Amino acid sequence: MSDYTLPKPLEYNYCPTCGTTLIQHHDGQDERPHCTICLRYFYFNPIPAACCFVVKPDGSMLFARRAVQPCLGMWTLPGGFVELGETTEEAALRELQEETNLRAERATLVGVSTKQSPRSGSVLVLGYHIEDWRGEDEMRPDTDASELRFFAPHERPELPFSTHQELLELFDRVHGLG
Ligand SMILES: [Zn+2]
Repeated sequence: MSDYTLPKPLEYNYCPTCGTTLIQHHDGQDERPHCTICLRYFYFNPIPAACCFVVKPDGSMLFARRAVQPCLGMWTLPGGFVELGETTEEAALRELQEETNLRAERATLVGVSTKQSPRSGSVLVLGYHIEDWRGEDEMRPDTDASELRFFAPHERPELPFSTHQELLELFDRVHGLG
């Protein structure tokens, strides 16, 4: 099971503010891309994302089939990238509503998983347990999801993202599922 194979993450060659060619310069810790006009260093950091655990009383768990690349057509946990100006919990709840139309006000942190990613360098995923959700009658796939389904523990699909898999195993250990 691998994540996916795509081009290398973005590399900074020019300052995105002034357009000057960046040089490699030591910031006191390491060599970094540096703009000699703006006097700014450019750092590469993991990109934060959130995923959701939505579980029914019978133990079945919600998965969403991906409508976008990477891993188009594969089942994953609902979720997506955190936007500027929102908390990670808000990101989880927003992504859940966008992809499934389910609504919730609260999410409990399950854990965090980080994985090197060919697309973005490194992704840091926060798993959230959505405990009080509602709206199953109006549930419908949208944005990044093409299909939604609750899977019993023994019939769950294989997950393409190792971060989701790691968080799922953690969730199962805590909640006695799987
Ligand atoms: Zn600059």
